[in-house]
Amino acid sequence: MLNSSLQPTPIPAPKIAIIGAGLTGLFTATLLERASSQMNEQKINDKSSIPEITIFEKSRSVGRLATRYRSDSLTDKNWQWAFGAQFFTAKTSSFQQFIEPWLQTGLLQPWCAQVVSLTPMSANNQKPDIHLKEQWGSTQARYISTPKMTSWGRALADELQHSTIKFNTRVARLSQYKQTPNSNINNKTNDKTSEKTSNKTELFDENGNSLGHFDWVICTAPNGQAVELMADSGFSECAKITEPTMQACYTLMLGWNENQPVPEALSCLDTAWDVAYVQDSIIDRIFIEHHKPEHHALLPSMTIHARNDWSEQHVDDDINTIKAKLLEAAQRALNWNAESAPSQVDCHRWRYAATVTASHKEQLGVLVDDKQQWIVSGDWCGQGNIESCYQMAAQTMAAIV
Ligand SMILES: Cc1cc2nc3c(=O)[nH]c(=O)nc-3n(C[C@H](O)[C@H](O)[C@H](O)COP(=O)(O)OP(=O)(O)OC[C@H]3O[C@@H](n4cnc5c(N)ncnc54)[C@H](O)[C@@H]3O)c2cc1C
Repeated sequence: MLNSSLQPTPIPAPKIAIIGAGLTGLFTATLLERASSQMNEQKINDKSSIPEITIFEKSRSVGRLATRYRSDSLTDKNWQWAFGAQFFTAKTSSFQQFIEPWLQTGLLQPWCAQVVSLTPMSANNQKPDIHLKEQWGSTQARYISTPKMTSWGRALADELQHSTIKFNTRVARLSQYKQTPNSNINNKTNDKTSEKTSNKTELFDENGNSLGHFDWVICTAPNGQAVELMADSGFSECAKITEPTMQACYTLMLGWNENQPVPEALSCLDTAWDVAYVQDSIIDRIFIEHHKPEHHALLPSMTIHARNDWSEQHVDDDINTIKAKLLEAAQRALNWNAESAPSQVDCHRWRYAATVTASHKEQLGVLVDDKQQWIVSGDWCGQGNIESCYQMAAQTMAAIV
């Protein structure tokens, strides 16, 4: 029998704070939970060391996956727009394995969209030129979450077992409260707790309320917000946060009533098309929402993303001016008349939408300060898409575990 003094002392459960409940934050919590369960199963660790994870999210729901909908008061039916990410790829086998359970339940579905190339009407009013380009799935699968793009984020959040998500909680800059033996903005250094926890980071919200002490802090905020959170914090990799450039994106959301004709451009080919890559326009992509799998009960709805370079140039312009310009460009692309003009029009500004990566540069990867136990992560540490969120979550998990 083991002498009790020789028994391994249980390692205290590490407390981990994740800033941001976007996909990077949710994937990170999921992978950390899975890794600790595996370690327990293999008896590598004691059960008491399952990490206690707290995710702080400043908004009231999950990340840049965004769905907006509006109900028609007459038909009670919905228009719906996935006005952030429209779809995602799963190029690596590890991400394919990760998404498999949700593909099995049907929450995630492949979108085998018919894609066209579209050149809008020219100045002399020649009709838009539209021709088939490809069908998604033939070479590279694209996936969507159903019934809404936000559904996956919600499912990931619901499936977390050792993590708590605190919505409507904005974490303040880390520089203000990293604990050091002799300085603390809240002057708590004389009490015993803070002495004991001097190697931990105490987080605060924007009103100065303590959010707790943590062994690890993982920041998954978009790049511009990460710069602000880590400025002057002494984070060893601070300079690298400013390396990627982020560009904005304006999104136009259009809807048609039930008995209204949809624009001519939608039915100009023998087959229905679902996605248009737009040429010679301030518009980049058009997505037909009611053509997506499990979306057929919707009223006709379209999401249109403007070009990132144009959006960035106009990022501070008045939103109504932008909306009018995008509506004019959409009319040229879709060729509607008075009868088939959209009855619902909405516009959204994404200040940090796309990561511009120089093709010759390797992706950053997560930024780790081992001494302070801080990690800066997010899609922008990779290629700025959902698959990068997973890759960055896997890197974070490896760094901590
Ligand atoms: C218009 C648009 C179109 C896109 N299209 C595609 C696409 O087709 N395919 C694809 O794969 N990807 C696409 N993307 C990218 C994809 O949406 C992102 O890669 C992904 O959602 C990023 O997730 P994230 O968790 O890294 O960041 P986010 O989703 O931005 O999550 C970060 C979270 O941190 C929170 N936060 C920030 N600061 C604080 C703070 N101080 N305290 C607490 N919380 C904080 C934010 O509120 C946010 O919820 C698109 C993005 C946009 C905007």
